[in-house]
Amino acid sequence: MQFKPVFEKKERPFLIAGPCSAESEQQVLETARALAAQNIDLFRAGIWKPRTRPGGFEGAGTEGLHWLRKVKAETGLPVCTEVANTQHVFEALKFGVDVLWIGARTTVNPFSVQEIANALEGVDIPVLVKNPVNADFKLWLGAIERIHKAGIERIAVIHRGFSYHGESRWRNVPRWEFVIELKRRFPDLQVICDHSHICGRRDTLQMVAQRALDLNYDGLMTEVHQNPDTALSDAQQQITPEEYGTLIHQLTVRHKTTADESSRHSLEQLRHLIDELDEELFQVLSARMRVAREIGQLKARNNIAILQPARWNEILEKAVDKGKQLELSRTFVETFLRAVHQESIEQQARVMVEKEAVRSS
Ligand code: PEP
Ligand code: MN
Repeated sequence: MQFKPVFEKKERPFLIAGPCSAESEQQVLETARALAAQNIDLFRAGIWKPRTRPGGFEGAGTEGLHWLRKVKAETGLPVCTEVANTQHVFEALKFGVDVLWIGARTTVNPFSVQEIANALEGVDIPVLVKNPVNADFKLWLGAIERIHKAGIERIAVIHRGFSYHGESRWRNVPRWEFVIELKRRFPDLQVICDHSHICGRRDTLQMVAQRALDLNYDGLMTEVHQNPDTALSDAQQQITPEEYGTLIHQLTVRHKTTADESSRHSLEQLRHLIDELDEELFQVLSARMRVAREIGQLKARNNIAILQPARWNEILEKAVDKGKQLELSRTFVETFLRAVHQESIEQQARVMVEKEAVRSS
């Protein structure tokens, strides 16, 4: 898939901001005026709100589109909103909404995404595809493909984190690796970080926005409300336009490279070093697997089971201890060693199957 940029390249990230929901004409216009003064690039406001449970504020509906039209006329800001079905698309287009986004609860459903794609056939409008609520990479990719197949080339993605079960400091866990993989496959696909829905609270917004810029994201989407505590949806994570201004000012913008020759040279040398260490790492891993296969032979000859839980626990505990001394996080050591152990088991199992085949032939 080839994508055209939704956002023009600038020296700073692309800024999308606005309330979670359009609640009243006054709320929308006041927030938009304050944000226009902060030089944002695109105003956001939810018109139809997909609430997880019934009984909450479900959005102003079509009436809110009049308010967005006023925002455009008065401030000159382009506007965007969430669409979840054919009717939303037609209404949004009728009212001149500039950019559409597909929400996380819609991206999970191929029927809905296809319905939106069909409604967009022959229309030239940028579409932002949020990640699905569940951490399913293919579902995200599938939604992008459906919109792309409808002839939309100006597509970008919004990373808003993933649902989980249990306690966490996140509202939605980021799983940054999903975006890293998307960027690897589609370097020209622009990525926006919706830090508001990742954090679900105000005090971590700055840190997550900075992390996104450190990872070279193209922009940020932030929920901003004139009076956040009274917001009809997502009150805990919304901030005032003033707080938003401070947050944006405190960000350090990262670039792809630097004009400083000597830093570029040092970076190249360090990358060379990394390549060499990776090579060594693979040689060591390969040697480890050779030993594992030998163990497999020995176990096969003596009918010893491959999996030995006590031994595996001992390896894991030792590694976590060692990792601590070497400044490697517990999560990393465990994830890494689990992968290595799994590969050892598979290689041993292969050896056993081969032995068995020889024995029975
Ligand atoms: C929103 O942006 O207000 C929204 C509903 O987000 P999400 O689809 O990411 O939950
Ligand atoms: Mn919201």
